[in-house]
Amino acid sequence: MTNQQTHIEINLPNLRNNLNFLRSKLNSKTMIMAVVKAFSYGSDAKIISKELESQKIDYLAVAYVDEGIELRENGIKTPILVLHPQLNDFDEILKYELEPSIYSFRILKEFLNALITHSKKGYPFQLKFNTGLNRLGFNKADIGDLVLLLKDLTPTFIFSHLGASEDGEHAAFTLNQINNFKKISFLFEKEIGVTVKKHILNTSGILNFSEYQFDMVRSGIGLYGFGNDPEYNNALKPVLNLKTVISQIHDVKKGQSVGYNKGFTANKFTRSATLPIGHADGVSRLYGNGKGKVMINGSFAKILGNVCMDMIMVDVTNIKCKEGDQVTLFDDTNFSAEEFSSAIGTISYEILTALSLRIKRIVLN
Ligand SMILES: *Cc1c(COP(=O)(O)O)cnc(C)c1O
Repeated sequence: MTNQQTHIEINLPNLRNNLNFLRSKLNSKTMIMAVVKAFSYGSDAKIISKELESQKIDYLAVAYVDEGIELRENGIKTPILVLHPQLNDFDEILKYELEPSIYSFRILKEFLNALITHSKKGYPFQLKFNTGLNRLGFNKADIGDLVLLLKDLTPTFIFSHLGASEDGEHAAFTLNQINNFKKISFLFEKEIGVTVKKHILNTSGILNFSEYQFDMVRSGIGLYGFGNDPEYNNALKPVLNLKTVISQIHDVKKGQSVGYNKGFTANKFTRSATLPIGHADGVSRLYGNGKGKVMINGSFAKILGNVCMDMIMVDVTNIKCKEGDQVTLFDDTNFSAEEFSSAIGTISYEILTALSLRIKRIVLN
């Protein structure tokens, strides 16, 4: 009996495979930080973090403080970097023993105040530098003022983020970012008088620029099975399968329509299958009107008309199927999330992280 509702399978053997593949690209001493932000890219951060902790992951990273608190409340002990703390977060950061990324003077001052208030001198933190992404981080010109404010505090790591490591066309840009990072590190270490551990590579950085692994690397999408490259996608295995079932089948006569706003009008006899998944679950309306497709009994069925909030209708005119049959939106064998999402010109990251929390998660061990 197949699962009779929309669900996401979280495939832990595939997660372990991906971690081992990434480890095989690195020196044995290089630490790995697993990025588990956004519900572990749409899966479940508690389940993924527990599994990675049992696989001896060195660090976890989340975007926002609430994501880190949830992990601590579920017993995760691994160091957790909060990539993007906000001004009012520092009481909780200290309380839950989270490690903040300090990326601006405004954030640094709040952090230093919190250390005084809670008498926590020596509390771990990381410093983020901007090397070309122009998103978050101190600039090279800030180092003098930064060192004055830090006094004798030393970060556990300094790090930066690459903007185009998946793109061979931008290799010169990536190498320039890495070079900027080296210069910044050199200057910062000279000013504070000690060496500091470093990291800059994300998944595509690990795969394409592994010689710059420094002391640690950060991987998100690679752990979930995508390498932003056909070659690496073969070695990595998708961790999330999105599946549902056929709720009902309708015979649609020539001239009749399907769905809201008569999105599809049949110009010949059409069989339409209704599936219990819609834009509230993360399947954008952009997939409607034939753009997106799902797999039923080994064949592709195109989405008919508009995506509804809780449902889509798909064309099964030429597919042998019945109510209750299983439907795959994407999986780790036939049709990947990357292929599914390419239908509307987006990337695996977006479809995964858009998956709604109302979808049931099932763990495959
Ligand atoms: C999200 C994020 C990552 C993960 O990137 P992947 O391409 O998924 O490996 C790494 N570092 C930072 C700073 C991030 O924001």
